[in-house]
Amino acid sequence: MSLETSAFPEPPKYQQVSYLKSALLNKDLPTDSGIEVAFIGRSNAGKSSALNVLTGIKSLARTSNTPGRTQMINFFTLDSERRLVDLPGYGYAKVPPTVKKRWETHVNHYLENRESLKGLVVIVDVRHPLKDLDRQMIQWAASCDLPVHVLLSKRDKLSRQQANKSLKAVCQELEGLLDSGQVTVQLFSAVDRTGVDELISLLNSWFCDCDDCIMDEMGEILTAE
Ligand code: GDP
Repeated sequence: MSLETSAFPEPPKYQQVSYLKSALLNKDLPTDSGIEVAFIGRSNAGKSSALNVLTGIKSLARTSNTPGRTQMINFFTLDSERRLVDLPGYGYAKVPPTVKKRWETHVNHYLENRESLKGLVVIVDVRHPLKDLDRQMIQWAASCDLPVHVLLSKRDKLSRQQANKSLKAVCQELEGLLDSGQVTVQLFSAVDRTGVDELISLLNSWFCDCDDCIMDEMGEILTAE
């Protein structure tokens, strides 16, 4: 084993997150430096709950769910160079076409142009995998070489057997992308905390800018030679 060089050798402390700003327009985005990981998913899939459990801060989602902010890109600071990003939920049934168009334009611009965006966490309700918009998001990100981690949320709503069946079906559908390492998938529950450690481990590898790294218990990056 040898130490891998990284500009960000220490994993972030997710509990030290703080709200930075919300951006409705591209000009409002914070400086594009360091590393960002963005969370996205269908409305009601469990994105806010996942962010709350990850950070241990219940008010984080409330901050981003403040009326008017649900259509914005919400930024949270982990440290001076690393951020979590809460993207607006897609698939609202009642959103007027003009609002939908504005959302798409804004989010597409962010996803396509953001240099600091290291990876995308796509939250999918384990009971309803995968909807067309989920598929489109995953396929599109993979086509841009943006790593994707699929969180199959609300795992506690299904029996272990049913949840594993759903996981298997998603893995089969995304087989090619899984094999090439562009996409990873896991089960998750914000209620019983299934998969929290797995999510943190994945995020640590992105935030330490070291895809093939294994962390030791001190947070140091180790990698097999
Ligand atoms: P968002 O719209 O994607 O941010 O979804 P929320 O995080 O607000 O969750 C939508 C609903 O699903 C809320 O009622 C949550 O309490 C519920 N929910 C979210 N995650 C879980 C979970 O892991 N298990 C269960 N049982 N319910 C969840």
